[in-house]
Amino acid sequence: MHARFRLSAYTLAMSRFEVIVVGAGHAGLEAALASARMGISTACVTLRLDRVGHLPCNCSIGGPAKGHLAREVDALGGEMAVGTDHALTHIRKVGTGKGPAVQTLRAHVCKSLYPTIMRAALERQPNLELIQAAVRSVRLESGRVVGVELESGEALEAQAVVLTTGTFLNGLCHEGSNQTSAARYGDRAISTLSDWLRSVGVEMRRFKTGTTPRIRAGSIDFSKTETLESDAEAPAMSFLHEFPMPQRAFLPCWQTRTIAETHDLVRENLSQSAMYSGRIEGIGPRYCPSIEDKIVRFSDKESHPIFLEQEEWDSDSIYVQGVSTSLPADVQLAMLRTVPGLTGVEMIRPGYAVEYDMADPTQLTPQLMSKLAHGLFLAGQINGTSGYEEAAAQGIVAGINAARYAQGEPPETLSRNESFIGVMIDDLVSKGVDDPYRMLTARAEHRLLLRHDNADERLTPTCKRVGLCSDERWERLERKREEIAGGRAALESAIVLPQHNASLEHHGTAGIFVGTSLFELMRRPEVSLDVALSIASSCGFSLDLDLSAGAKEQIELERIYGGYLIRQQRLADQARRLEDLAIPAETDYATMAGLSHESREKFERVRPASIGQATRIPGVRPSDVVLLVGHLRHGSPLNAGREEARA
Ligand SMILES: Cc1cc2nc3c(=O)[nH]c(=O)nc-3n(C[C@H](O)[C@H](O)[C@H](O)COP(=O)(O)OP(=O)(O)OC[C@H]3O[C@@H](n4cnc5c(N)ncnc54)[C@H](O)[C@@H]3O)c2cc1C
Repeated sequence: MHARFRLSAYTLAMSRFEVIVVGAGHAGLEAALASARMGISTACVTLRLDRVGHLPCNCSIGGPAKGHLAREVDALGGEMAVGTDHALTHIRKVGTGKGPAVQTLRAHVCKSLYPTIMRAALERQPNLELIQAAVRSVRLESGRVVGVELESGEALEAQAVVLTTGTFLNGLCHEGSNQTSAARYGDRAISTLSDWLRSVGVEMRRFKTGTTPRIRAGSIDFSKTETLESDAEAPAMSFLHEFPMPQRAFLPCWQTRTIAETHDLVRENLSQSAMYSGRIEGIGPRYCPSIEDKIVRFSDKESHPIFLEQEEWDSDSIYVQGVSTSLPADVQLAMLRTVPGLTGVEMIRPGYAVEYDMADPTQLTPQLMSKLAHGLFLAGQINGTSGYEEAAAQGIVAGINAARYAQGEPPETLSRNESFIGVMIDDLVSKGVDDPYRMLTARAEHRLLLRHDNADERLTPTCKRVGLCSDERWERLERKREEIAGGRAALESAIVLPQHNASLEHHGTAGIFVGTSLFELMRRPEVSLDVALSIASSCGFSLDLDLSAGAKEQIELERIYGGYLIRQQRLADQARRLEDLAIPAETDYATMAGLSHESREKFERVRPASIGQATRIPGVRPSDVVLLVGHLRHGSPLNAGREEARA
């Protein structure tokens, strides 16, 4: 039976659910789908059904580290990558000049088709009700969630609530000196929920993000730009698809750059920028700076790249990637007209900045449940992150855990040794955020193990365990595993002999003195899998390997990075042992002798779930962690702890 949806709470009798998700943005829709797919009666309440999965900023899904997150959401049974493959307008592999740890995909999607596909996924989902309404507050009884109250005054009941309200909480948009109370272009802000969160002790702070002007394609002189074609060989974003499935021929995107005149004009008008005039209180993203920030903070740079990206199949609106700004509209236009290719440009709408309330994530458990209210989960931009992928990743984890909470099942924790999602959530709840958190591959200690190509191997077993895995997804993983194991076994059992040296030299590699397996030969940089297969057929071996692109990639990676992978795995296992040293939730730090004041305060605030998490809390001294280990093991702080920590 398909999902039901209603325009307001009054039209249908049902108002009791097991899980309610507030918001249908990138976090909300993943949370709602996960919960409903786990068989839990779920409601997704959002302000506007016509803005489900809305992309208020760029049209890209993926890119450095974000591509890893999108693939991990997919491996967990999420929807983002599936929707991306269907709404794709452009795709490229990124990081190809670097190692496999940073390589991933950057896709552009049609900004009208992607939300349509996401809304359809929600609408056809059993156990899910879509409700267009505004949530005023969450209802608690003795510290436990019992539902939500709508602005209409009606109450909906549930055992768990997931808040995914994005930039909506006290959203304030800025363009020059213009200020508008709004969450983003075309969406109103919400204030009541912030007040409610504060009333239960949630620490709220102001963050800021921004977006770029939109310009008319017809007014661009593309001859002055560099055309960047899509990569026809790029694999699909989703592990469910062999290839991307764009509805039309891929679009290119175009690159140009700022020039000195652009920089001068921005500098001359800095005082008019909402950000630089002090009108914005919120803290902006370090790793996604506005054009003003780039010109001020990187003044040594002569020019900055600008990418022109078509937002939809059937519109001539172009997103000017790299020029997020809160300068007044007239200054923005003048700035754009200094850029090669844009000298005659027409602006469809100006860029703007939005500041909004976010909730301090150190008040959450590693499962994204609030420590202040049982059954209350938070996911997405509200936790201080920035980006569709970061939001979707938190959404699926919060959805899984809200469903398990409603089922009375133990929560599911993704560790930082197995996923970028685990890295992000652990960073949020252990370290907190000083500015909008954006995922970077450098944030992961073991990033060679957390590659975008093996997210299925790492996370689909979890997806299966929590009841989110379709048969097709599991069969694809099993098939890939069999192909890899079969391919490896065939290459190991194909022994090349010295009498085949002519063929080896013909393939540009040195001869051998003793029988050597093809897999062993592949350790030579010049013997790739394709070369090995060619050697095999020229030596009369019929390996007959029918390998998918995914399996081939894994065998190649093991060939090149086998040694590194083993070493990283050993380090990750060591780290996992520290993670396994659990800390009881009720640990009394106040009476724990020997702890420094700062560590005691931090332990009481974060209440780390494991020794591993305790080591990552900023400001906590290693000696205090040793003490803590001692207490956990022997009730006495000194020697015992030191031995354990050294082990
Ligand atoms: C102007 C702008 C510029 C951005 N620029 C960038 C950027 O450059 N780079 C980047 O990585 N990310 C950027 N982002 C952020 C990116 O859009 C978000 O990270 C992402 O959309 C967050 O997803 P979310 O699900 O947390 O929230 P959103 O996508 O914002 O969705 C929030 C949802 O909650 C619903 N909602 C809110 N309050 C209520 C309520 N009380 N009752 C019912 N429903 C409610 C809304 O209707 C909406 O469906 C930008 C966002 C904006 C607005």
